Amino acid sequence: MEWLIAISFGELFLKGKNRNTFFATARRNIEKNIRDIGYDDIYIESSVLYIKADYEKLDIMIPEIQKVFGIIYISKVLKCEKNIDSIKEACKCVIDERNDYQNKTFKVVTKRVDKSFPLQSTQLSSMLGGYILKNYENVKVDVHKPDFKVFVDIKSKAYVYSKRYKGQGGLPLGSSGQGLLLLSGGIDSPVAGFMMAKRGMKLDAIHFHSYPFTSKRAHQKAIELAEIMSKYTGDMRVYSVNLADIYKAINENCPRNYTTILSRRFMMRIAEKISKENNYQAVVTGESLGQVASQTLESMSVIEDAIALPVLRPVIALDKAEIIEKSVEIGSYQKSIEPYDDCCSIFAPSNPITKPRIKFVKLYEENLNIEELENKAIEKMEIINI
Ligand code: ATP
Ligand code: MG
Repeated sequence: MEWLIAISFGELFLKGKNRNTFFATARRNIEKNIRDIGYDDIYIESSVLYIKADYEKLDIMIPEIQKVFGIIYISKVLKCEKNIDSIKEACKCVIDERNDYQNKTFKVVTKRVDKSFPLQSTQLSSMLGGYILKNYENVKVDVHKPDFKVFVDIKSKAYVYSKRYKGQGGLPLGSSGQGLLLLSGGIDSPVAGFMMAKRGMKLDAIHFHSYPFTSKRAHQKAIELAEIMSKYTGDMRVYSVNLADIYKAINENCPRNYTTILSRRFMMRIAEKISKENNYQAVVTGESLGQVASQTLESMSVIEDAIALPVLRPVIALDKAEIIEKSVEIGSYQKSIEPYDDCCSIFAPSNPITKPRIKFVKLYEENLNIEELENKAIEKMEIINI
């Protein structure tokens, strides 16, 4: 008998024609998250992913596996021979493992994947139920609303388990296309990225910095945020673009109160160019309605005017407090609040415009050599793989 972790995925995509791709992605993302903990084997048997590792490691692994999208349940299972005695023994072990079974009701649920197994599911369930009743004084059977269940899956071996930990649901990465996240060093954009990834969007990120006006550390912070996110988003590419020359040009040639709007439009155009080259179908931002001057409806529509791709804003309707709660949950909050200057805060005007006019924006942009500035920034762009 040996302990393993078993991972069950959402039915929805198990049946789809991209089934094998989903499994491969889920497996890769799970392996990435448990690599540091270490495991001995990983394999799939009839739609369930099994991981073999030392018993002490299993509890440490579960929270790391829970970060992967598309998972419904995670359980610690006992794998044993397909004979009645071994299965009975395993049932006892998983009930003892629970240590909350006293005075509770239970039910045995058998799933016979191997149809050559001599007993039918209901026969095996009632036999094991009887065995459990005989061995535990304070438990009772309740087939309708049991306090706990004992699951027995008959496959190439028998898998027996009782406790199930919930996965966080969502769709497997890549099942909803690819997007480019505008990742600043703040609280909102990692949360926005997490929310889109949960809906199955494969994400890479673009970060704009303005070294030497801002420290190298600000850029490093964005990379570290991407590392935290990659526990959920899998492998991630970060495009790091220096906007220093663009900020300088805006500052020298345009009214101060339009700086943020104009620089955001540069961000959008650069993001679009990179998206076209790399097949991103949408950009994702952490904008939230009314949070700051650049996030009024007027500002957002002027910013969005610079880009033809869809701009997705999953946190648009969340309060700051709700976004913070989410960022604590995903583990990015502590990193996000580290105090390093963002390019936007250095160049931020003291009186940013809240109702910018597209007519003026276009006029100011005539003073800038947009193509050249953008191409130079893209030429010097760094790519970091996480
Ligand atoms: P965040 O907490 O994500 O920084 P914020 O509340 O500070 O958001 P803004 O600074 O107005 O809001 O930025 C709005 C959005 O624009 C960000 O969520 C992000 O998607 C994008 N953005 C802003 N600055 C940058 C940057 N330096 N690099 C990449 N994206 C950026
Ligand atoms: Mg910001």
